[in-house]
Amino acid sequence: MRGFILLISGPSGAGKSTLLKKLFEEFAGELYFSISSTTRAPRDGEIDGVHYHFISQEKFQNGIKNGDFLEWARVHENFYGTSLEHTNRALDEGKIVVFDIDVQGFKIAKENLGDKIDSIFITAKNKEELKKRLLKRNTDTIAQLDKRLKNASEEMRELGEYDYLIINDNLEKSYEALRSIFLSLKHKTKRQNIEQIRNLWNEGV
Ligand code: ADP
Ligand code: 5GP
Repeated sequence: MRGFILLISGPSGAGKSTLLKKLFEEFAGELYFSISSTTRAPRDGEIDGVHYHFISQEKFQNGIKNGDFLEWARVHENFYGTSLEHTNRALDEGKIVVFDIDVQGFKIAKENLGDKIDSIFITAKNKEELKKRLLKRNTDTIAQLDKRLKNASEEMRELGEYDYLIINDNLEKSYEALRSIFLSLKHKTKRQNIEQIRNLWNEGV
């Protein structure tokens, strides 16, 4: 398998992490989650080095200066960035690297990595439903929630730039869509190591 990037974006609260969790449960050995660095404080249940690398503003700024990030962006007043080194290593190892990043990061990653990226935009059916989910998740203050909803409308303007779109209304159906997209990408001829497959074909005859 030749490594490639499965990049997911969409409004906060749309269900990206929920759907990705299911994909990682089913295809555990095949996927590599790109753990972003962020200056945001961890939420209850979030573990440093698992969900994010939670770092200080100073460390983040040093990372920018040192060119450590493939892309970075300021989202809802916090900084988020993707490690260049980890991404390149995983791609060289032929892994399928999963990014959960915002639309600004998508644009930069696309400029840098072009056809190594397949992208999916995941959203809720409307703003009202998104608000309900954010309230249910209960991780934001009212001011933060307002910011996320405003940002969601801006992100929705960019959905036409993505290869695939999932409107996450029914969770099971959305997972079926994500799973199908993943399997289809994995089986693309250009993702396969054709030479190796041909060599194996002739072995032992
Ligand atoms: P994101 O990663 O996009 O910010 P989450 O995966 O954290 O979003 O989901 C936000 C909330 O919405 C969570 O409480 C999750 O359980 C819930 N949720 C996810 N998908 C659905 C769905 N299809 N229907 C109803 N609630 C959902
Ligand atoms: P949250 O605070 O809800 O975890 O994430 C907020 C937003 O930041 C989401 O849209 C998420 O996709 C995005 N995000 C997470 N990591 C990165 C990253 O490394 N780079 C960019 N550009 N966005 C990220």
